[in-house]
Amino acid sequence: MQVELLDCTPNPEELVCRAARGDYSSDWVGSDVPFAEVMEPVEGETLEEKKRTLMDHLMRSGHWGPFEHPSATFAVRGVSRSCMAQITRHRHASFDVMSLRYVELSEDEPLEERFTYPETFEADEVVSREGAEEVEMPAAERTELADEVYKRCIDAYADLVDAGVPKEDARMLLPIGTKVNLTFSMNARALMHLLNMRMKGDAQWEVRELSETVLEEAKEWMPYTFDRYEERHPQPLSP
Ligand SMILES: Cc1cc2nc3c(=O)[nH]c(=O)nc-3n(C[C@H](O)[C@H](O)[C@H](O)COP(=O)(O)OP(=O)(O)OC[C@H]3O[C@@H](n4cnc5c(N)ncnc54)[C@H](O)[C@@H]3O)c2cc1C
Repeated sequence: MQVELLDCTPNPEELVCRAARGDYSSDWVGSDVPFAEVMEPVEGETLEEKKRTLMDHLMRSGHWGPFEHPSATFAVRGVSRSCMAQITRHRHASFDVMSLRYVELSEDEPLEERFTYPETFEADEVVSREGAEEVEMPAAERTELADEVYKRCIDAYADLVDAGVPKEDARMLLPIGTKVNLTFSMNARALMHLLNMRMKGDAQWEVRELSETVLEEAKEWMPYTFDRYEERHPQPLSP
């Protein structure tokens, strides 16, 4: 799995502060007013301190509206269609997903490039929602079984496509572990909600891994916001 912050609102935390200052003041907060002037009444020695004072106040008081202005777009490579189904349940995001109607998969690619192998296919002990358990089937046998099934699926799919069956129908033979790429965009508040839901201990490992990687990228983008978010995770997002 790979996650990249593809694009984002520049100066996102300044945008949050400008919008919020517009809530508490009758003064215009447009870009022709220097940011230092917009923030003048806020407590703090430096502009950076003032930003932190204001954002901390917003987060503590549950004033999340201003965090809906900045948005980010993430490119994601190589998640299972199962993980894709989970993440696309979030309705305040915009998605583009690699379409198996249009993209033809090759049977020549290494299986691990095309299909997902959870750790539980290989580990001796499995930790699930029910706790730690022994898996009775030996690890080598499990991996072999997965290889066999994945190979059979991709070969059958390729046979149908070669025979002239449209890709959109041949794909019915592909398993839920088939990897896809996707791109999604969200505003900062909606993203925090997604992370609340998908970094929880009972979320599946793959969507948890995706969310944790997205959080790392988000911390690069809005450092103060997402560092505080991580400290307080899961963060209630309604007043
Ligand atoms: C651990 C886990 C297990 C899950 N298991 C299942 C499962 O077995 N089956 C299954 O179907 N789903 C399952 N889900 C998905 C879950 O039920 C949600 O659909 C998904 O997490 C999207 O989150 P959300 O409902 O908060 O909505 P989002 O789309 O992220 O929206 C954010 C918030 O906006 C508001 N909102 C958005 N749309 C509406 C609306 N139409 N009406 C009212 N309020 C709205 C709600 O307050 C919502 O919380 C699971 C999720 C998790 C994290």
